[in-house]
Amino acid sequence: MNVIFMGPPGAGKGTQAEKIVDKFQIPHISTGDMFRAALEAKTPLGLKAKEYMDAGALVPDDVTIGIVEERLGQDDCKKGFLLDGFPRTVAQADALTGLLEKLKVRMQGVLNIEVDEAVLLSRLAGRRICQKCGVSYHMVFIPPVKEGVCDKCGGDLYQRNDDSLETAKKRLGVYHQQTQPLISYYQKKGLLKSIQGDQATDKVFEDILVSLAPDS
Ligand SMILES: [Zn+2]
Repeated sequence: MNVIFMGPPGAGKGTQAEKIVDKFQIPHISTGDMFRAALEAKTPLGLKAKEYMDAGALVPDDVTIGIVEERLGQDDCKKGFLLDGFPRTVAQADALTGLLEKLKVRMQGVLNIEVDEAVLLSRLAGRRICQKCGVSYHMVFIPPVKEGVCDKCGGDLYQRNDDSLETAKKRLGVYHQQTQPLISYYQKKGLLKSIQGDQATDKVFEDILVSLAPDS
């Protein structure tokens, strides 16, 4: 099973990714982990990437795709892989297409978890933290018994700036701007599998499995 996983922040991608790797026994490959591993192992590409990162520059695509190639060539990827956070641009997607052809690997699909914007915003901006003891709550998922008050210590709950509605809107805006071209790219290739993410976790997973079934 070879899949790419996309979805906006707050779509519950992490939970679903875990279920997929568990079910198919494939590695979960995130860009961050891949870079960290290449840097730790001091591979030539890892060292090259480090030069750019140390200089505060973006790592060029040819270096990134080289690191992806090294990672996909490892033994644990023989059964498949779940790519998360890569590709980010159409240029990277093109390079990945070429790489997979070279490796003779067929992609089963590009999963795109879709969740209504209003729902995402309420998820992203729902976090509240206790001023006194630091315990965190979520207005939708883990609400306190009494609004605005900590269950544990009675302290006042507050919202961090990072969790504000404005910040959430900005994050989603950036995400959509970056991802839209990729979505079109994979749509044209017939690989895009849109999954309705605003459902119970198990139902989302079921839909993912159906979308990845060989004849769908
Ligand atoms: Zn508290």
